[in-house]
Amino acid sequence: MTWTSLPDAPGFPAEGYAPLADAVGRILGTRNDVLLVQGEAAVALEAVAASLGRPGMRALCVVTSMYGRWIAGWLRRAGATAVELVAAPGRPVEAAAVAVALASGRFDLVTIVHAESATGILNPLEEVVALARSHGALVVVDAVASVGGHALDVDAAGIDVAVIGPQKALGGQAGVSALSVSPAAWERVAPPGEAPSILSLGDLRSLWLGTGRGALPGTPSALEFHALAATLARVQAEGMPSLRARHRRAAAAARAGALALTGRAWVASAHASNLVTAAALPEGLDAARALAAAGPATALSAGAGPGGERLVRMNHTGARARLDVVLGDLAALGRALRAVGMETDVGRALAAAEAAADGCGEAIP
Ligand SMILES: *Cc1c(COP(=O)(O)O)cnc(C)c1O
Repeated sequence: MTWTSLPDAPGFPAEGYAPLADAVGRILGTRNDVLLVQGEAAVALEAVAASLGRPGMRALCVVTSMYGRWIAGWLRRAGATAVELVAAPGRPVEAAAVAVALASGRFDLVTIVHAESATGILNPLEEVVALARSHGALVVVDAVASVGGHALDVDAAGIDVAVIGPQKALGGQAGVSALSVSPAAWERVAPPGEAPSILSLGDLRSLWLGTGRGALPGTPSALEFHALAATLARVQAEGMPSLRARHRRAAAAARAGALALTGRAWVASAHASNLVTAAALPEGLDAARALAAAGPATALSAGAGPGGERLVRMNHTGARARLDVVLGDLAALGRALRAVGMETDVGRALAAAEAAADGCGEAIP
């Protein structure tokens, strides 16, 4: 058997958790409490829903992929009424639709995903947060994909709960996630129950925040926390502005290249995420056929969820937010389109991508 040092990793020091939470707070631009959740980001989202949801609570859940649907389901399981506002397939929600939905009744909570990795769209976060706040509702934002790829300023925007994970634009591992909780949200969080629960924010409040932020409750995985510490150190060394700029440039290149290849843009740049770019295929061509023509060796994938079957996704998130990766994906997509009989000029698309990257200012690594 191959020897590995992973089982022999040193323990994670009790005094090491608070600095991690503080680093996450700086990334989020918040002075609110930051909690570390031992589990992938979907677990942190479920914990938020389980801790805030209760009978009598009414939530408006914006649905632009399965994540919005999941949080609605978790809220219902906690006894809340969750109304789903479903955007057109693969499209961002329109702020006007949120305003209409809020006017239809009383809502205590609004949930929204900031940027979608499923379809490469960006939701109008600031407008939706402002609408929710003027309605008097708490706002929960799934910023798992967007953090590091888009500006996210939790306190300036007035976001009550923001959930992030290290494994998307921050380029880390999926085992630990984090969230911020505003004082107003704390007022709604269920108190600790009879037995401890990984889904209870109230537990983390009393067992970690309330005890001086030392050792986390339970038996944390040292490996995962060492990985999170390394990820946050790397993010700090690169700097959030340059991390975001790297994603912006990769996305600009991918969008320009995809437009040149297919002659159409799936969404306008202002509504596109910097993490993933969806290339819209022409009528009569679905993603499965294009991907089959691209062959198994590419990182291209079909869109996820309704509408996704007409989209081919290029992933330029985290370590993949680089011009060389984008050019490789565009070349693979271009070859696939030609293989299924579409006339497209791959060289011109690559040149358009490079020009768009140059147009962003500094050179892409
Ligand atoms: C990836 C992702 C999640 C889930 O994160 P996991 O760590 O995979 O559980 C949730 N929301 C969004 C928007 C994501 O992109």
